[in-house]
Amino acid sequence: MAAVAFIGLGNMGFPMAGHLLAAGHDVVVWNRTRHKAEQWQTQYGGKLADSPALAAQSADIVLTCVGRDEDLLEVLHGESGILKGLKPQALLIDHSTVSAEVSRQIAQQLLSSQQQFVDAPVSGGQQGAINGQLSIFCGGSPEAVARAQPILAAYAKAQAHVGPVGAGQLAKMVNQICVAGVIQGVAEGMHFAEAAGLDVAQVMSLVGQGAGASWQLINRHQTMIRDEYDHGFAVDWMRKDLDIVEAEARRLGVQLPLTPVINDFYRDVQRMGGGRWDTSSLLKRLQEFATNTGKPD
Ligand code: NAP
Repeated sequence: MAAVAFIGLGNMGFPMAGHLLAAGHDVVVWNRTRHKAEQWQTQYGGKLADSPALAAQSADIVLTCVGRDEDLLEVLHGESGILKGLKPQALLIDHSTVSAEVSRQIAQQLLSSQQQFVDAPVSGGQQGAINGQLSIFCGGSPEAVARAQPILAAYAKAQAHVGPVGAGQLAKMVNQICVAGVIQGVAEGMHFAEAAGLDVAQVMSLVGQGAGASWQLINRHQTMIRDEYDHGFAVDWMRKDLDIVEAEARRLGVQLPLTPVINDFYRDVQRMGGGRWDTSSLLKRLQEFATNTGKPD
């Protein structure tokens, strides 16, 4: 069992750190908003650190799950950041969805040659984190990924080494491209079913057992019918991810005809006040346009 530190106890990190403890690891956590770390300790046990540096000092493996590129850089080399305490032979594993570029920057410029880095973004949502059923895309050297994988097993349904540092983030971008199109498809199908006077629940249940099935349709159509949009992955995070995808596509010179359109649709949802709604709220956008005959201001 390993001495691990977990930085960032949000919707994802909170249960993930709990799984590490349950797997028998010696876990110390840090969270910017301290009361969440205290809640975590009340729920699971484990230890709290007063700063990322102090958490890193007591660990051989340090995991992060924060927000954007700048948040990751802040917990790494801000005052009392992880780098101030990271051991000379430590392994750093990042679960945030960030750019491939910042992952490479961390590995090449911020860590010493003895310290290892794995970018390990996840898919499976908050429910996947709670159930320990995440898909994990690992980028790094073969040695670093081999060292990371037994730790990640605490909450992985599937994990694979997909290439060098940054490749994990590139694979997660593929995931987000696929998901964005699927959600819009489900929303349009439901919007059409409603306009056609069909029993939306009945039809979507049947579609979900045929060739139109998807995780989004099966897990979200009932909550979408109930106009409930508080089920995990937030629109603000999706906007972040699709901006990252668009920038990487420009860098690669690859055409993605649909993804920027869906990113614009999510901008509309943000204008509607739905930044913290979950990503299935594309249906709400269609319904809003139908009643207002135009885009929200
Ligand atoms: P969240 O609930 O908003 O939590 C974000 C966490 O990061 C909180 O612990 C927050 O601390 C911390 N944080 C953010 N900026 C920070 C900074 N500058 N310094 C220190 N701590 C900071 O987000 P989440 O849903 O757990 O997502 C975390 C990451 O996983 C994101 O990159 C997201 O895109 C990715 N992800 C999320 C999902 C999902 O379904 N939610 C799925 C796959 C991937 P505070 O508590 O102080 O705010």
